[in-house]
Amino acid sequence: MSDVCLICGAPLKYLDAAEEMQCAVCGGVFSGNARCENGHYICDACHASPAESAVRAVVLHTTSKNPIEIAQQMMASPAVHMHGPEHHFLVAAALLAAYKNSGGEADMNTALNAVISRGKLVPGGFCGMAGNCGAAVSAGIFLSVIQKTTPLSEENWAAGMRMTAACLEAVARHGGPRCCKRDSFAALTQACRFLKEEAGILLEVSDSIICSHSSKNRECLKEGCPYYSP
Ligand SMILES: [Zn+2]
Ligand SMILES: [Zn+2]
Repeated sequence: MSDVCLICGAPLKYLDAAEEMQCAVCGGVFSGNARCENGHYICDACHASPAESAVRAVVLHTTSKNPIEIAQQMMASPAVHMHGPEHHFLVAAALLAAYKNSGGEADMNTALNAVISRGKLVPGGFCGMAGNCGAAVSAGIFLSVIQKTTPLSEENWAAGMRMTAACLEAVARHGGPRCCKRDSFAALTQACRFLKEEAGILLEVSDSIICSHSSKNRECLKEGCPYYSP
C-alpha cells in the first residue's frame, strides 16, 4: 500500500531530486521525493494517518452534494479498509462535505477537525461490543457539530440523539454480521431523511446504491444486502 497513492490508488513515482510540492491533504508546502502518477503529493505527517488523510482529501476536493457518492469516493482509497473504525469518522465527514457543497454554513476547518476527532473516539468493533454502530454515531456527531451542540444545549440536545437512534435503527434492520460499507450506506440514507424531515436540510440522495466492495467481504450477506450487486 505504501507504493500507491492514498487518494487515487495510482502508483507512486520517485523523483531524481527533491522538489517543493503542496500536500494534497493539508495544503502545506514541503520538500518531497515522491508523488503519484496523477500528481498527488502527500506530506510525511499526513502519510502517518492514511485513512484520515484519504477522507480529508476527499472533503477538500469533492464538489458533490450527495453524501453517499462522497462516501464512495472515500471508500475507493486503498487506505480505507473493507471494515474498520475509519468509518466512524468517514460517515460524518461525507455528510459535512455534502452539507458544505449544498450551501450549508460551517467553519470547515474547525468542523472537519471536530468530526474526525470525535469519530475517532469510537473504537473498532463497537457495533457488536456495545450495541451501537459507529456509522450511526457518526451521523449524530455530524449533527452535533453543525448545530454546535454541547451537554448544556436545550434546543438541539435531543436532535443529535434522535439522529443517532434513527440511523441505528436503519443499520439494525439489515441484521449481522457487521459490514462497514452496508452500515455506512444505511446510516447515510437515514441521515439524509432525518435532516430533511427534522432539520430542513436538503442533501442530494442516491436513487439506488450499488456496493462495489462485496468481493472483499467474506461475510457479505450478498442477496440479503440491499446494496449487493453480483
Ligand atoms: Zn494520486
Ligand atoms: Zn499534509
